[in-house]
Order: sequence, then C-alpha cells, then structure tokens
Amino acid sequence: MRRMLLVAAAISLLGIVAGCATQKAAKTEPAQAEPKPLTQYVDTPTGRWMVHDESRPAPPIITPGAECGAAPSDAVVLFDGTEDSLKNWTDGKLTDGKPNPVKWRFVDGYMESVKGGGYAQTKDEYGSCQLHVEFATPANVQGSGQGRGNSGVFLQGQYEIQVLDSYENKTYPDGQCGALYGRAVPLVNVCRKPGEWQSYDIIYHRPMFDKDGKVTRKATFTVFQNGVLIQGHVELTGGTGWINAHAVTEYKPHPDKGPIQLQDHGNPVRYRNIWVRELKD
Ligand code: MG
Repeated sequence: MRRMLLVAAAISLLGIVAGCATQKAAKTEPAQAEPKPLTQYVDTPTGRWMVHDESRPAPPIITPGAECGAAPSDAVVLFDGTEDSLKNWTDGKLTDGKPNPVKWRFVDGYMESVKGGGYAQTKDEYGSCQLHVEFATPANVQGSGQGRGNSGVFLQGQYEIQVLDSYENKTYPDGQCGALYGRAVPLVNVCRKPGEWQSYDIIYHRPMFDKDGKVTRKATFTVFQNGVLIQGHVELTGGTGWINAHAVTEYKPHPDKGPIQLQDHGNPVRYRNIWVRELKD
C-alpha cells in the first residue's frame, strides 16, 4: 500500500513538472503574428471595387444563340447563308471607288471559294475580336499536302489560321488545319472528314505598336476547332510578314483594324455561319 502511494505521488509530481515546463515554453514562444487581412479591393481597368461589391457594374446581359455556334445578340453577322449577307463581302478591289462584289460561288446556305476569284474579305474592318466560322473542305478529295482543301481565315488581313483537309493528309505541322500558319502547330488534330462541316471559334487580340512602330504587345490567338482547344493563348512570336518559306520578318506596324479574309488557295472550300464580336483592347 505504501509503495502504491509513493508511485502515485511520483506520477503527480512529474505531471506538475511537465505542466510547468509547458507553461515555461509557452511564455518563451514569440507571440504569433495576426494574419494580414486579405486585400479588400481589387484593381480593375475600369475601377476599384471591394470584393463582392454589389455596386460594381455587372457585365451586359446578352442572349446566346439558340444552338451552339449560333450568333449571340451582340454579334455582327457576316454571313448567315443568305445571298443578302454577301453584301458584307468584297474581293478587296475597288471599281469607281466602290468595293467589288465577292467573286465566290454562292449556293443557298454557303459560299464557296472559286479558283482565281481572290480572297473574300469583309468590307468592314476589325481588330481584337471573337470570330466564329464554319467551313467544309471538298468531299471530292483531290491533291495532297498543302494542295488539298487549302483555304484560311486571316485576322486583320495579316495572320492566317490555316484551313486545310488534314484528315489523313500529311503536311508540315505548322501548316496543317488549325495551325497559326508557319508559327504554331495545333495542340491536336481534331479534323472531321472531307465534306463535313467544321467550326472555328477564335479569340484574337491584336498587336499594338508604339509611335516608332515598335511592337509593345504581341498578337495572341486562342482557337477552338469543333469545340476543342487547338491554340491556347498563343503569342505570335517572330513577326508579321515573310522573308521566305522558312523565315518570317519582325513585326511590322499595321493599322488597329483590318479586314477578315477567307483565302482562295485554288481549292473549292465552303463557308457558312460567320459572325464576329469586337473585343476591347
Ligand atoms: Mg491557307
């Protein structure tokens, strides 16, 4: 019994010593710094608003198209499959100071490039934009490589998103369908078969130049083909023009806006449902 009492007393004493040690340690630890509050304001290009600030202007409400790919309410419809919408297009040349009509073949529902007809280009000009385009390369497969279903979508009349029949058709990768031509290879080849309708959704931010013509912001491209990301915010390195087949120039200054062009590369490529939304810089 006496031994048990002695053990209990010893355990108790150890507990007290341990407690003192803990208290002593707590006193010597530096006081924990209060966590800094999160930034309460967010700087935006349009103002300075508190997080969750309900007085912050909400983005405009627009109505989406009834189907995927259909133009939303704030888009400029460039071609809706009607002959009347060809009035938005020209061959890029003037007669008596007025733009020539486009020299492509119109079929109810689409327009098709004509060999030697020249590019189809918009009468109006655009800079940074979101662009929706649907296209089909010829069902009657002819040629190979760059000679099969070649066309292209040019932003500002400068930068080409390649259109090509790349369904079982080998060519240099930076020139296959979905390439930022000569600059960037698409992330995947998501091409449908020849003759089937496909889509591009392009987010383009134009380059900017200073007063001396030096580029201060390079052009960027995000492209979805048939709903799949193929170019993810790709910055156009190198420049605007060509030196030869394997070399590009530095950026050359050009106006803030330019026409959207569809290339005539000698193959009958079809287009339909084309619309654009201008984006602020
Ligand atoms: Mg092309």
